[in-house]
Amino acid sequence: MPIYEYKCTECGLETEVLVLDVSSFNEPSCPMCGRAMKRKVSAFAYKADRTAERERSIMKLASDYLKDGKVKDAARFMKKASEYVKTDKVKRASEALSKAVGGAE
Ligand SMILES: [Zn+2]
Repeated sequence: MPIYEYKCTECGLETEVLVLDVSSFNEPSCPMCGRAMKRKVSAFAYKADRTAERERSIMKLASDYLKDGKVKDAARFMKKASEYVKTDKVKRASEALSKAVGGAE
C-alpha cells in the first residue's frame, strides 16, 4: 500500500495519506481549510527527518487558531492532524484541545 504525500496549495499543510486502494482513490482536500491538495513525490528515506518540520507547521497553525479565539477549529484541526502526524506532542495537544472544547459545551 503506497503512502502519498500531499501539500495544501492554500495553507501549506502537509499530510500523508495511506492509500488502501489506488484504483478508487480520490485526491483529498485539505483537512484544515478544505482546499485541494497537491500530491508530492513520496520518499520514505527522509520521512523521519521531516516529522519535526511537519509537527512545527501543525503546532503553528493550531496556535494561529487559538490566537483568533477559534478553540473549536483548533481542536478539530489538531484531531485531524494527529491522524497524520503521530508524535507525542501533536497527540497531547490534540487531547488537550478536545478536552477544552468538550468542557465548553
Ligand atoms: Zn489547507
